Amino acid sequence: MELKTGLYIDGKWVTGDGTLNVIDPSTGEVIAAVSTAGDAECDAAITAAHNAFPEWAKTAPRYRAEILRKAFELMVAEADHLATLISRENGKVFSDARGEVMYAAEFFRWFSEEAVRTPGDFRKSPSGDKRILVTHQPIGVSLLITPWNFPAGMATRKIGPAIAAGCTMVLKPAGETPLTALAIVDILERAGVPKGVVNVILPSKTGPMISKMLHDPRVRNLSFTGSTEVGRVLLKECADLVIRTSMELGGNAPFVVLDDANIDEAIKGVMLAKMRNGGAACTAANRIFVARAIADEFTEKFTAAMAGMKMANGLTEGAQLGASVSMKERNKIAELVDASVAAGAKVHTGGKTPDGAGAFYPPTVMTVDKSNPILQSEVFGPVAPIIRFDTDEEAIKLANDTPFGLISYVYSQDLTRAIRTAEALEAGMVAINRGMISDPAAPFGGVKQSGLGREGGFDGIHEYLETKFIGVEI
Ligand code: NAP
Repeated sequence: MELKTGLYIDGKWVTGDGTLNVIDPSTGEVIAAVSTAGDAECDAAITAAHNAFPEWAKTAPRYRAEILRKAFELMVAEADHLATLISRENGKVFSDARGEVMYAAEFFRWFSEEAVRTPGDFRKSPSGDKRILVTHQPIGVSLLITPWNFPAGMATRKIGPAIAAGCTMVLKPAGETPLTALAIVDILERAGVPKGVVNVILPSKTGPMISKMLHDPRVRNLSFTGSTEVGRVLLKECADLVIRTSMELGGNAPFVVLDDANIDEAIKGVMLAKMRNGGAACTAANRIFVARAIADEFTEKFTAAMAGMKMANGLTEGAQLGASVSMKERNKIAELVDASVAAGAKVHTGGKTPDGAGAFYPPTVMTVDKSNPILQSEVFGPVAPIIRFDTDEEAIKLANDTPFGLISYVYSQDLTRAIRTAEALEAGMVAINRGMISDPAAPFGGVKQSGLGREGGFDGIHEYLETKFIGVEI
């Protein structure tokens, strides 16, 4: 299948002010040179979305739903091609990439179903002589910015509800992984999305060009997924024109194993919560809190499972851990581990950067004390620090000792105790006795510095809708 490498503006593939090389992090090879957008192309994308909005907003919800349904079907039919592309530009193993494609496609199916179910309200006022009508209208031109770790899933989680709501949009994918976003927009074009509704640009100078776009009064909404650091900058940018924002930011998830947990089930869960996507997930379990009574057995079994993983190029048969997205990201992981070891961490497996080409870092398990510096950073890689605790209260206090609050995991065979713990954990999502809970049909999002707003579920479409009250005198 032909690789798309242009910018997609107003229904046409165009070139911009230069090119950006996309690198396969497993080999260091250049896969493609993708066009970058200058100021003129960024402006053209906003103009296209602005011009397309009035007609698009008026289309029947059923029409938009059928386009999304068709896009879902095309994505599923082309899953192997997309997964190969993701694995090549991101480094993750093929099985993770294929899982991501199915998850990503599901947002098109879910929002095709949600498009025709936007709720409204008609009521009598308490005084009885007026009527309250509440309706929802698409916000308008939405700027969607996505990270490299789930190049398909993070794009469709925004495009799906924006299309369902009747918004037009400009998508800006991460510089490391633009090919997947371009392949998805090609699918949307074939599914029947009219020109101007979805535009994709890759600015040659991200910060200043996005800032300029956020100061264009035609842009009404920003949906951002990425680091808290960049999210904070964008919130300030959005303040000037009071642009509506959704922020899906960083995490530093605790994985809490209480002393009555089924240890083998907890090992299966932690392998998923830590190692899916090579540990490069905002939902990744980064701080493994284990009750002291079971910590030796847990550590031994977890270390054996991690040490047994096959690390290789993501497209190699049987590979379980691929490369990090770039040498820069891989070196960041190595620096965090080295600093942790210098502060007293005991390494059970891994912990050493391999020689040779490719941005690889091995599965690493360490025991650390609660003051170890690694616990304060979001490790975006296959590194699992274990911390021992004595009481449930201590585990909750340690788990909440972070500015982040995206997701937490709890393992216990006593559901009452697990739910009490879940309620005390400061997180937008809590997984009880499971290592993964992301689900297009459920609200995804964080508290504290992990973000604002929710994607997916019944809430997701409301990030692209304004509530309008119409008051009627009877
Ligand atoms: P990042 O550095 O914040 O980049 C994310 C996106 O923002 C990229 O497209 C990037 O573009 C763009 N960007 C960077 N600086 C910008 C600026 N000044 N103005 C506007 N856009 C800017 O994050 P990342 O390293 O790609 O992704 C990892 C982070 O994403 C982690 O913190 C992870 O937890 C978070 N994440 C959160 C969720 C969630 O749902 N909560 C999901 C996935 C990932 P360039 O590539 O051009 O720099």
